[in-house]
Amino acid sequence: MYELFKSPAFDNAVTQFERACENLALDDWLRERLKAPQRTLIVNCPVRMDKGNIKVFTGYRVQHNLTLGPGKGGIRYHPDVDMGEVAALAMGMSWKCGLAELPFGGAKGGVSVDPLSLSLNELERLTRRYTAEILPIIGPNKDIPAPDMGTNPQIMAWMMDTYSMTEGYTIPEIVTGKPVIIGGSLGREEATGYGVAYIVDDALRHFEKIIQGKRVAIQGFGNVGTYTAQKLSDIGYTVVAVSDIYGGIYNPSGLPVQELLEIPRQKGQIQDLKEGDKITNADLLTIECDILIPAAIGRVITKENAHKLRCKMVVEAANGPTTTDADDILEERNIPVIPDVLANSGGLIVSYFEWVQGVQEYYWSKDRVISELQKRMHNGFNRVSNYAREKRVSLRMAALMLGIYQVAQAKQIRGLYP
Ligand code: NAD
Repeated sequence: MYELFKSPAFDNAVTQFERACENLALDDWLRERLKAPQRTLIVNCPVRMDKGNIKVFTGYRVQHNLTLGPGKGGIRYHPDVDMGEVAALAMGMSWKCGLAELPFGGAKGGVSVDPLSLSLNELERLTRRYTAEILPIIGPNKDIPAPDMGTNPQIMAWMMDTYSMTEGYTIPEIVTGKPVIIGGSLGREEATGYGVAYIVDDALRHFEKIIQGKRVAIQGFGNVGTYTAQKLSDIGYTVVAVSDIYGGIYNPSGLPVQELLEIPRQKGQIQDLKEGDKITNADLLTIECDILIPAAIGRVITKENAHKLRCKMVVEAANGPTTTDADDILEERNIPVIPDVLANSGGLIVSYFEWVQGVQEYYWSKDRVISELQKRMHNGFNRVSNYAREKRVSLRMAALMLGIYQVAQAKQIRGLYP
C-alpha cells in the first residue's frame, strides 16, 4: 500500500513515525493503520484559461486520520505537489492536532500548479473547480481546509463560496483562514508566524547555555516568514537574512524588517531591497546566525548541507524542512531542532478558534485570539520540552510521541468498526 504514496516526503514522514513508534509500545495493527492515510482523493480539474484554451490540473485531498474529529489541513498550490507529499503533510497534521489536543483529524490538500503563472480569474476558476471536485469529502463537520503555501484568504473565500452555493446557504465554517468580513478570525493571518516567534523565544530561554545571540535567518517570506520576521523584530531579534523563491538578501548587522514587509509579495522580489548582499536560497541555509528558520518548502536541510549549517538552533516554520538523515547530523552536532508539529502549530490553533467562532456564531476580539494563542504555544513548548527531558529524547521525538499517542489512544478506545 505504501508504494502508492512513495516519495521522498512520504518516506521521511514514515521514518519519523516509525522512530517514534519504537519508543511507544503501540500495537502492530495501530502502527500499520496509522502509517498510511485513511482516505485519498485524486481529482483532475479542467480550467478554461484566459486565452480560451483548457488546461487540466491534478489535485489531491488526503485524510490521514479522522479519529479525533473532522479533518483539518491546508491546501497547497505549488508545482512540486504530488500525492506522496500531500499524504506526508496530512500525516503531519494528525500528529500536530494530537499534540495540540484539538478535536481534529489530520488532512491536507494540494494542486500541482504554479499559482504565480495564473491570472486572478484563472486562479478563481481553478479553485472553484478543485473545490467542486473534492466537495463529496469535505464539510464543516467532515474536513475543513485552510491556506498553505501558494494559497491565501481570497482562495479560501472562493472555496467557502463554492461550497455554500452548492449547499444552498452560507457555511463559513467550511474553511478557516478566510477574510474576516465573511467569518474569518481576527489574528488568523498572523497566527502561524507569531506562533513561530513565541516558540523561538521560549526555545532561546530553554537553550540559554548554548545560544546567547538573537540573529535570525528566514527562508521563505510569505505568510509565515513575514509574520515571524515582524514579531521577532518587535521583540528584539535581529533579522539578518530572508529569501523568497527568487533568492535572498543578507546583512550581518540586520535588515530593515519594516521596509521588507512593505515590498508587495507577489511582484516585488525581496532582492530589490538595496540594504543587503544578494544570496541564494542555498546560501541562506549556511550563513552564520543564531536561529535558522526554514519557512518555505520541505526537505531543504539534508545530509548534503547539514554539516555546513552555521546556526545554533533550527526552528521549523515550514512543514518537513529537515530530512531524517539531516536530523541525525544536527543532533550529533548539538544543534537543537524545534520540530514543525510544534513550531508552526499556531496557524492550526487559531484555525480551531476560527472554526469554533463560526460554529457558535460568536466572534472574539483580536486580543483574546492572540493571548489564547500565546498561552497554548507556551504550554506546547513546556509539555514537549518536559517530556523530552523525562524520556531522554530529542524535541522532535517528544513532540511526535505526544501527538501519535493522543491519536492512537483515541483509536484504541473507539475500537474497530464494524
Ligand atoms: P506562502 O505561499 O505564503 O509563502 C511561501 C514563501 O516561500 C514565499 O516567499 C515563496 O516565494 C517561498 N518559496 C516558494 N518556493 C520556494 C523555494 N523553492 N525556495 C525558497 N523559497 C520558496 O506560504 P506560507 O503559508 O508562508 O507557508 C510556508 C510554509 O509554512 C509551508 O511549508 C507551509 O506548509 C508551512 N505552514 C503554513 C501555515 C499557514 O498558516 N500558512 C501553517 C503551518 C505551516
